[in-house]
Amino acid sequence: MFSRILIANRGEIALRIIRACREMGIESVVVYSEADRGAPYLSLADEAICIGPGPSKESYLNIPRIIAAAEVTNVDAIHPGYGFLSERAEFAQVCRDCKIEFIGPSPEAMARLGDKVACKIAAKEAGVPIFPGSPGAIEDEDEAARIAEKIGYPVIIKAAAGGGGRGMRVCHNEAALRSNLRNASTEAKAAFGNGAVFIEKFLEHARHVEVQVLGDKHGNAVHLFERDCSMQRRHQKVIEEAPAPGVDRRKITNLCESAAKLIREAHYAGAATVEFLMDKDQNFYMLEVNTRVQVEHPVTEQITGVDIVKEQIRVAYGERLSIRQEDVVVRGHAIECRINAEDPDRNFMPSPGHISRFEPPGGPGVRLDTHVVTGYTVPTNYDSMIGKLIVHAPTRREAMIRAERALREFRIEPIKTTIGLHRRLMQNAAFQEGGIDIHFLERLLK
Ligand code: ADP
Repeated sequence: MFSRILIANRGEIALRIIRACREMGIESVVVYSEADRGAPYLSLADEAICIGPGPSKESYLNIPRIIAAAEVTNVDAIHPGYGFLSERAEFAQVCRDCKIEFIGPSPEAMARLGDKVACKIAAKEAGVPIFPGSPGAIEDEDEAARIAEKIGYPVIIKAAAGGGGRGMRVCHNEAALRSNLRNASTEAKAAFGNGAVFIEKFLEHARHVEVQVLGDKHGNAVHLFERDCSMQRRHQKVIEEAPAPGVDRRKITNLCESAAKLIREAHYAGAATVEFLMDKDQNFYMLEVNTRVQVEHPVTEQITGVDIVKEQIRVAYGERLSIRQEDVVVRGHAIECRINAEDPDRNFMPSPGHISRFEPPGGPGVRLDTHVVTGYTVPTNYDSMIGKLIVHAPTRREAMIRAERALREFRIEPIKTTIGLHRRLMQNAAFQEGGIDIHFLERLLK
């Protein structure tokens, strides 16, 4: 097994990886920026190394500095976490060139599944359901208009290399489609360095359902069933749960098997998430594949008992997955609440700063993934998520009651957080009944 791993990330996910390394008897080296200097989680790693100033470009996104840190600390592998460099094929390639194992897929597999057009083609071959739309990148406007006519408006224009919810345009008629196509391509070229765009059917009312998959270097892939992440604000997930409430188990099992097949056929080693939208008749359409560990991986860990981060490390080393498909059994229901340092009463304005009181919840079925402790100061430089509260219980109803109970115990002062909003949501009758879709939260907050 690896003897030392460098963690090219920060905050709760860095701590999550430090913990996995400790339990596996692997030494961990965590990088940090000047803005994270002195953060308590850093002392839980075997070594911490400063890689530059606060702005991400000068530290967590700076490939030469991270590779230099890996070389001076003599690690055999790098875990990128999520965000930052985790989905940059170029970074995976540099790691390979430097003979450092990248804990994630090969640059080839990442590039293939990370490009939305290439991914759709691979998905279709594997029998993964995709949106009706253009079979590849749009070559000319007339062709796009013909396709849109055939699948019916509204349609959405997307960039092949897009991400982070950017560069998408919904078109309700041909005139809008034609005028948007040119701008979309120019914008995509500027933003992502690739002007390829495609169109697909736009679903008005949908739920976000995603499948967790693990693959190894021996051609095995298993799925760990699904998560529902419909509770979103501005395309950002706020609450995730597993399993997806009210979904036909036979349909979902077929979907999960097709997702595992896609990963297997892409010769993909590591953790991947295949994201779908689901319409009201429970038809699924693939959105994209995320080629890394997700923020919301703990809900899947709670219901399956599989440690996703440890599996990532094992398969990167070249071991076989420690589980077979028939070993994966769903137990109970898990819900994750993202705790953000934001003020829900002021349009979710970031609320960084010093935390003088931090009282975490506890008791049966409660897991808290956070790097925050009393006395910690939330820096202004990064994402506002400061932790994740995950509850597990035999049923969805009990999980919601447990979440509400845990949120009630949870005190973070004086900064503003989303704890109160989550409590409100756990008491919301429509949410309790599973009547959710990707616009639920926006309607509620209006
Ligand atoms: P990104 O990689 O930029 O996050 P995605 O393809 O994952 O882009 O889409 C982000 C979000 O945009 C989805 O979660 C969904 O809310 C919305 N969206 C994307 N495609 C469609 C579609 N065909 N119909 C309806 N909504 C969509």
